[in-house]
Amino acid sequence: MMTRDEYIQSLRELNLQVYFMGEKIDNPVDHPMIRPSLNSVAMSYALAQMDEYKDLMTAKSNITGKTINRFCHIHQSAEDLVKKVKMQRLMGQKTASCFQRCVGMDAFNAVYSTTYDMDKALGTDYFQRFTKWLAMVQDRDLVVDGAMTDPKGDRGRGPSDQEDPDMYLHVVEKRPDGIVVRGAKAHQTGAVNSHEHIIMPTCSMRESDKAYAVCFAIQSDAPGITMIYGRQSCDTRKLEEGNDLDVGNKLFGGHEALVVFDDVFIPNERVFMCEEYEYAGVLVERFAGYHRQSYGGCKVGVGDVLIGATALAADYNGVPKASHIKDKIIEMVHLNETLYACGIACSAEGKPTPSGNYLIDLLLANVCKQNVTRLPYEISRLAEDIAGGIMVTMPAEQDLRHPVLGPIVKKYLSGATGSDTENRMRVLRLIENMTLGTAAVGYRTESMHGAGSPQAQRIMIARQANLEEKKQMAREIARVDTSKDHFVVPQKKK
Ligand SMILES: Cc1cc2nc3c(=O)[nH]c(=O)nc-3n(C[C@H](O)[C@H](O)[C@H](O)COP(=O)(O)OP(=O)(O)OC[C@H]3O[C@@H](n4cnc5c(N)ncnc54)[C@H](O)[C@@H]3O)c2cc1C
Repeated sequence: MMTRDEYIQSLRELNLQVYFMGEKIDNPVDHPMIRPSLNSVAMSYALAQMDEYKDLMTAKSNITGKTINRFCHIHQSAEDLVKKVKMQRLMGQKTASCFQRCVGMDAFNAVYSTTYDMDKALGTDYFQRFTKWLAMVQDRDLVVDGAMTDPKGDRGRGPSDQEDPDMYLHVVEKRPDGIVVRGAKAHQTGAVNSHEHIIMPTCSMRESDKAYAVCFAIQSDAPGITMIYGRQSCDTRKLEEGNDLDVGNKLFGGHEALVVFDDVFIPNERVFMCEEYEYAGVLVERFAGYHRQSYGGCKVGVGDVLIGATALAADYNGVPKASHIKDKIIEMVHLNETLYACGIACSAEGKPTPSGNYLIDLLLANVCKQNVTRLPYEISRLAEDIAGGIMVTMPAEQDLRHPVLGPIVKKYLSGATGSDTENRMRVLRLIENMTLGTAAVGYRTESMHGAGSPQAQRIMIARQANLEEKKQMAREIARVDTSKDHFVVPQKKK
């Protein structure tokens, strides 16, 4: 396994094509906008080296038998699935932001079982190609961006019905030694901090979409790949000279990028699906399931920090004992632990797939993510309530440091008797960062859309709900005689 420093050095050796605000970034590693997000990923390396976290952060590879970072692991038991969620909560607690490395892990596990099923049914050799590539990833302890979401253009049309064929990433040429692909993947978490990308189709597909049914792995700096780094709310605070207090979370963050593939060549040994459109939906469903489980860990860890910051804000405001404050903090804990309960439940109920790796309970994983689309918003609302309006109207750090204004700011922003005003400001800025600033991308909007928008989970919940079985339970209890029922299905009016 790599150390934190070795990981950072390994990123320096990549020749990435990264753009931010119209400019090419030659040194992403040391860029003040990007570095906090890199620090979050680096935490996955640092914790894996620490004895107290080894049980959660490392695992034994089923492919090589070696000890690897759990972020590269193929889950071998329900216990592995539970440990994954616990590891993610820990990472959220240590970074208070999106630490980016879980998308790749979720892709590994989905591609693993799907390629196995494809080979069994179709006689292809994708599983063997994939496991060979994954063994390399595990050995070198790489970060891999899990890339599913296409730009999608007109949402009312499928991949092959778009006016512009590049709205979904697709194969433009098949050569004896590989394929050439074109298109883009949007919202790619941690793309600039990744050594590789693993590309998957974004939705289930028909035969006419088969050029879009493609799955492969590629190095981040392969010719033809360009990354356009996404903006976040309040992001330019990171670029301010001497920034410290106003960024809220100086050390850590997350990022997303638009990753463009301009006729990129993928050698055959890195191709894990090419035109097998019948398996696109299976892969999407499994990846989404694992990723919906993930949010029952990572968002909970971030939620722990937000609850802590909110309780501190109450201390600094001098109202920690007020009954409604105590009750609101209890409510925040209750909501946060509800998410965790879902993450643990879908893991504990995990079952082996024919390939041998473990898949979460899909119904519970979708319930988990559906809750994640709601509860962090309520937790954020309660945090804003308790923090008070000063969280968004507070003067700048420069005013605090100013020889004349500083004492005025200190006087009028003071809180509980005996508390330090600058500490109060730090806590309020952290809450601002997590609910409205750069970290809110990960804590709020990613909770909404990451791993699929709310409706995507409702579709899966409907599919997994087994309503007929529930109806039968009710019939038996109510002693319904079905022979007396002659339901008339209403005809649709023409
Ligand atoms: C912070 C963040 C990080 C992310 N990280 C990653 C990542 O690392 N890798 C990755 O692959 N993806 C990532 N995603 C992408 C995520 O999976 C998508 O945002 C999600 O699938 C929704 O797609 P969209 O954003 O294009 O929204 P849209 O598809 O535009 O959805 C907007 C609304 O339109 C509705 N809608 C869309 N299509 C239809 C339709 N045909 N019929 C009816 N209603 C429709 C949706 O239900 C939703 O309410 C990330 C997203 C975010 C916000």
